[in-house]
Formats: sequence, C-alpha cells, structure tokens
Amino acid sequence: MKITFLGTGVAIPQKGRVQSGLLMEMGKKKVLFDCGGGVLNRIFESGNSHTDIDTIVLSHLHLDHVADVMCLLKANWLCDKFDSTIYGPSGTREWLDRLMDLYPYMKEKVSVDVVEVVPGEEFRLFDGCDVKCAAGIHSVPSLAYQVRYDGKTVVYSGDTEPCDDIMAMAQGCDMLIHECSFPLDFEMTNHTTPDMLRPYIKDTGIGAVYLTHLYPHMQGHEEEALEYLKEEFEGEVHIPSDLMIVEI
Ligand SMILES: [Zn+2]
Ligand SMILES: [Zn+2]
Repeated sequence: MKITFLGTGVAIPQKGRVQSGLLMEMGKKKVLFDCGGGVLNRIFESGNSHTDIDTIVLSHLHLDHVADVMCLLKANWLCDKFDSTIYGPSGTREWLDRLMDLYPYMKEKVSVDVVEVVPGEEFRLFDGCDVKCAAGIHSVPSLAYQVRYDGKTVVYSGDTEPCDDIMAMAQGCDMLIHECSFPLDFEMTNHTTPDMLRPYIKDTGIGAVYLTHLYPHMQGHEEEALEYLKEEFEGEVHIPSDLMIVEI
C-alpha cells in the first residue's frame, strides 16, 4: 500500500498544510479519504491525476474534510470522467443531493453513487480490499476506517477523541493515522492531544502512528508531541508533512 498525505491541516489556514486528505494506492486502485480545501491541488502536486480517483471515503461532513469534493467531481467531469462513488456517514446522501441542487449543471453531468455506512459496518471497497468502520467522538457523526489490503492494515481516525472502538480496530495494525489537533495539555473535547492519545496506543502492537489534522496551535510543539508519545509507545511515531509518501 502506498499512502500519500495530501492534506494534514485543518479549517484554519497555515503554511504547508492544506485541509484533510489522504490517498491510498492499492495496486492500480487509488482511494481518496477525505477531500478538504486544497486537496484537489495536492492531488495534482503529488503527481497523481484526479481522473484516477473515482472512490472517495469521507470520515464526516465538516468543511475541512469535504470542501473539495464538488471541485474534484467537476474537474473529473471536465476531463470526461463522470462516474464516482462516495462512502460516508449517515447524512452524506442528503448533503450531496443538496449541493447538486445548487449546481444543476453538475447534477446533469456527473453520476455519483453514495453509500452511507454505519459504525461497525464492514464492506468491500473493491476486490481484495475490505474496510471496517467505527464511530469517532466528534461534534457531528464521524467515522474511522480500517482498511485491509494485501496483508496490511491501515486505520484512519478521522476527527475524534481517542476512543475504545477505534483502538479496537487499530490493535496490531501496521499504520494508525490518527488526528492530533492540539498540543500536549491543551484542554479540548472532540479532538485529540498527545496526552489523550498515549494511553490508548500503549501495548497495542501498532507498527507506526502518523499524527495528522494539526491545528496551527501545534506549530513548534511537534517534537514535544513525538518525544512524549515515544516515551511509552514501542512503535514508530511520525508527523507527516503534506505530500509525504509512506509505503507499507
Ligand atoms: Zn471535524
Ligand atoms: Zn477536521
């Protein structure tokens, strides 16, 4: 599996990090997880073609995770690619229907199959790739996904506090991509700080943790977060920058 961190930032702009987006390449298939503002351009910058992407998996419907979805669909349409499938939590179909109502010319041109999934559900993304999801703890319904392909397992948390359901999916996985919005000791709910995460990843057998969804508040606190987590976590811990590629 080849994972490209397209966007590792949040709703507040900052240098070098656009909003949420993650590309997983599995064989010839390229699946996009979240598509916040700036991600469409990052797809281009990463050397990929947006027309290779016909499957988008959304963690939740906050703007910093979906703002470029319509832009991607339009870019594809302009390049003669009309069909796509969007997986997402409950509400995804209504969200897209209402957007399409606002852009009737899009509605006529593109064909989007929306698949709403519920926490605990398992589904086959394509032949050889199975996905399971769990509910996050966030201000709106949010899903974390476990993706299994070719003997490897990757878990993407979406926006959430660390929680048992997601960590149950992450036990022993090769790679956990977990949000870490704010620095150590930052008082916060619905998101994650290093001190909230550390007890959850200890003794889990997770191979590597990648921290993403960084608020500007994290700037200058990256090393502190890595050191803090490494004190008790036996695997690797990284903070990826946009366009970083990891192969597992
Ligand atoms: Zn959110
Ligand atoms: Zn977010």
